[in-house]
Amino acid sequence: MASQTVSIVQDSLNALLEDSSFLPDLQKGSREQAFTSLAAILSTPNKVHKSFLRISLENGKVVRIPAFRVQHNNTLGPYKGGIRFHESVNEEEVVNLAALMTLKNALHDVPFGGGKGGIIINPRERSVKELNLICQKYVHYFSDVLGPDKDIPAPDMGSSDREMDWMMAEYKSIRPGEPYRGSFTGKSIINGGSLGRREATGKGVYFSFRYILHDFLKEQHTFLSNSGNKFAKTVLGYKNRPLTIAVQGFGNVGSIAALEAHQCALLQNKVVSVSDRNVMLYNSEGLDIPALIDFTSKNRGDLPTTDEQLSEAGIKAAIHERDKVLVLDVDVLILAALEDQIHQENMEQIKARIIVEGANAPVTGEADNYLSDQGVIIIPDILANAGGVIVSYFEWLQGRETQFYTEEEVFKLLVDKMKATMDNILPQYFGDPFPLRQNCYIHSVMKLSTVLYRQGKLY
Ligand code: NAD
Repeated sequence: MASQTVSIVQDSLNALLEDSSFLPDLQKGSREQAFTSLAAILSTPNKVHKSFLRISLENGKVVRIPAFRVQHNNTLGPYKGGIRFHESVNEEEVVNLAALMTLKNALHDVPFGGGKGGIIINPRERSVKELNLICQKYVHYFSDVLGPDKDIPAPDMGSSDREMDWMMAEYKSIRPGEPYRGSFTGKSIINGGSLGRREATGKGVYFSFRYILHDFLKEQHTFLSNSGNKFAKTVLGYKNRPLTIAVQGFGNVGSIAALEAHQCALLQNKVVSVSDRNVMLYNSEGLDIPALIDFTSKNRGDLPTTDEQLSEAGIKAAIHERDKVLVLDVDVLILAALEDQIHQENMEQIKARIIVEGANAPVTGEADNYLSDQGVIIIPDILANAGGVIVSYFEWLQGRETQFYTEEEVFKLLVDKMKATMDNILPQYFGDPFPLRQNCYIHSVMKLSTVLYRQGKLY
């Protein structure tokens, strides 16, 4: 587990150790021993599976592609987490992401544990046939540890419904006659996927921000005004004010979050900037997000990179250097690309007062502490980007029942679940000095610790 996650889990446990109302049955010596056991359990994965997939490339060469499946913790249910297809994947990263899934599922009361997978390839450099083979081999090599009640992968960076369809089909042929619909989530609709799954993470990311800035602010105005807490002051400062938004990353998560902001009638939002792996686009009057989505859908996911492309698509924007998006003078920054984007070197230049983590771990520990000290609200990954795993859970349920929900039902269930989590967390956050990430971790660690204790795992 990366040191940031380890230290926040440890901080959460230290806070709970002092709180005698938490697990009051545990007294003195046995209490300390139990908390030491909890730290050991939560900071290490249950299992790390590694394999080298033997693939015959189209050019006739045979290569061995490193692949991982990390099963962090299954206290709350089967392991669950995406498979990342990227050339920079490494074991430490996958272990950390698996731990994050354990905490995320615990936070949102999703009955799954935490897992994650990774394959070290650049999917853009592989043919469709090669990718198909890689997916089949991945399932083949890890088939003993995967399954609807054991470990359920989903797409992550570089993978999509196409890969999940291939993987589920391979799982089905390896295990004839066994239930298979719940073996993978994030599948295409025709193949048992859930309506709304594709949009779920981006919608949830935007909802987490909208809920604080609109619903919670409206309903809890008196509480926020009386609190005196620095984060409450930040929210109150945005009451009835138009907001400018910048979005880093314009893939599945970023583009949907931007579209939600563009279409939201409850807040006066303006998405003034979006960026991707090539460029940053800016328009102080607001960008035409639907037109940009239309462009990317026809151009392998990439935003326009030249003035000619912009004018052909009828989009008004200035083209800037990619990383400028991070330091723009905007109210809200939605990070939906990669990890470690705001760090020690650039944290002092950040101007946004609200940062939403659509990606996993895009703000480092140092930067989180520095910005939180100044009252910047950072809605952490574990809270903001859980829409995908929440709707994955609904997909898994629908697969079991072979009853399918309408898109409207899925979005309502998603919003209800995220709202329930936020109603649990926000009163504490706006009342005490801890950053939101720490509040979320404490909640997750509390849930996991209680279940581990009740299951007799701390002796
Ligand atoms: P994606 O592959 O669809 O899109 C990634 C986007 O980031 C692309 O627009 C790409 O051009 C851009 N990008 C890459 N490098 C960049 C850089 N250096 N600067 C700016 N932009 C850059 O991926 P996605 O599914 O949208 O996921 C984005 C992030 O959200 C990932 O970190 C992923 O792990 C996380 N996440 C995704 C989901 C999901 O359901 N898709 C769920 C939880 C978390």
